Amino acid sequence: MYVKTVLVSIIVFVLAVAPAWSQKPENILAAVGTPHNPKVQIVWNRYYDNTALADLYQQLQNAHPDLVQVASVGKSFEERDIWVITVSDRTVGDPDRKPAMYIDGGIHANEIQTSEFCLYTIWYLAEMHAAGNKFVRQLLAEKTFYIAPSINPDARDHFIHRANTQHSSRSGMIPVDNDRDGAYNEDDFDDLDGDGHIVMMRRKSPYGQFVPDTKDPRRMVRIAEGQQGEYELLGYEGIDNDGDGLINEDGEGAYDPNRDWGWNWQPNYVQRGAYKYPFSLPENRAVAEFIMSKPNIAAGQNYHNMGGMILRGPGAQEDEGTYSRQDIAVYDELGRKGEQIIPGYNYLVVYKDLYSVYGGQLDWMYAARGIFVFCNELWTSYLLNHRREHDDRQGEQYTFDQYLLMGDGFVDWKPFKHPHYGDVEIGGFKKTYGRLHPGFLLESDAHRNMAFTLYHAYNTPKLDVAEIDVQDLGGGLKELTAVVTNSRLIPTHSSVDVQNRIEVPDVISLSGGDVLSGMVVDDRDLGLTTEQRNDPANIRVANIPGNSHVTVRWIVRGGNKFTVTVDSKKGGTDSKTM
Ligand SMILES: [Zn+2]
Repeated sequence: MYVKTVLVSIIVFVLAVAPAWSQKPENILAAVGTPHNPKVQIVWNRYYDNTALADLYQQLQNAHPDLVQVASVGKSFEERDIWVITVSDRTVGDPDRKPAMYIDGGIHANEIQTSEFCLYTIWYLAEMHAAGNKFVRQLLAEKTFYIAPSINPDARDHFIHRANTQHSSRSGMIPVDNDRDGAYNEDDFDDLDGDGHIVMMRRKSPYGQFVPDTKDPRRMVRIAEGQQGEYELLGYEGIDNDGDGLINEDGEGAYDPNRDWGWNWQPNYVQRGAYKYPFSLPENRAVAEFIMSKPNIAAGQNYHNMGGMILRGPGAQEDEGTYSRQDIAVYDELGRKGEQIIPGYNYLVVYKDLYSVYGGQLDWMYAARGIFVFCNELWTSYLLNHRREHDDRQGEQYTFDQYLLMGDGFVDWKPFKHPHYGDVEIGGFKKTYGRLHPGFLLESDAHRNMAFTLYHAYNTPKLDVAEIDVQDLGGGLKELTAVVTNSRLIPTHSSVDVQNRIEVPDVISLSGGDVLSGMVVDDRDLGLTTEQRNDPANIRVANIPGNSHVTVRWIVRGGNKFTVTVDSKKGGTDSKTM
């Protein structure tokens, strides 16, 4: 009976979703580097709200139960779940004991493609694993990905479902009285013509400073000296809703979730956008608690838009000393590879090349947790024409819209009777053009950025007990020397971690025989060692550097079978017996 019901459901399901044309595997030639026959079909030239995202996570978990696990790690202000998707091969070891990479998106909710880039990564890893790709199989056997695509979910849905500009809302949805008149969010933008877009207002005026561009009359350009203006620009669509003489002065939110983190936090009068105190936003607190609960996270990636940047910290110049030469060398090697993987993106430092950020997530993850983390600013004008130099960036945006988007990025100017300004026109770029990827470029850039994160994850520590050497000292005593290698770029402890003792040391243990003494070997050739008097069977080492090794030694009485085990929070475990 049960089997019959299931069978009927499958047939009904297939009939309901199967396309009329043939898309059977035998009718398809797979393009290289792409899942050959994905169990979960996702269209990559559109954006998904939180409901659609959650449904896709669930589909991926159902299709790949050994690889994908979905969990809510907390609730947003408006009680939406904050989902973290764990991707790892569960049939090969406990995901929480493997070196891990944490990836998130959507902290600035108007930067919505950040979530699709995360979703793409989950999908790609699971489906390429299922397709038998050797690299991905090895990666998910050795590593774990914790991916949180939408960490400020309330504002994402606000951006998607309500009329907005490309910049609104960057904040979360906790009401803030921006103009301190006792009312909250009482004077937001107004979609005056009800077309679902918040765009610009212009008015014909002999005193105006703007004229239509001769090459593209949709564009307003500032007049040259001595030239007669035709239009004045009146800002984004809106009216003075509360009659205080100001337009659009108190909209949704206004705080910045990426100025709320517990490292070098500064109040709003120093760092604009800071909320009440570090982690006063429930979404960030949930994410921070999650990250702190996973000491195996060695690598991190936050996604933002825009500018085509691969950013490392520090966010503020006074934190420069936090970044040691050794850690910067690791960042440099990863970042430069990133520039190759994602053409048009530049590897940069936040405070030097962008602006100062206090209380940013990037700095908290590195300086407070010891994680090698990048922030990629997605989307760059390089993607418009594959040139780095632009004489007229805004002009190219119009040209691109005209010839490649067929004008779909722009709301044409149309007349409107404005309650304060009289006859105006409303028009301009849609919220989905300017900072977000046009559909046909979304998958390509998601793939490149994901490839960078896979390279980063691959370079989290890989520890092996490479050698156990036994010397008979006579009198029933043996000297055991063990070498533990780390064959990847990232150390088990960044230098900020070692310095501030963020994570416990790595432990190299010997079982077998009666351990009389244990030591770290500082120089094997010269026989220089540092003894550990307490608990000599479990030697604690502060760090196992990247592409390097550590050597330890024990003096043992008796025993003939010896097992050496290395146990590192960020480096995982390995054992060898002889
Ligand atoms: Zn951002």
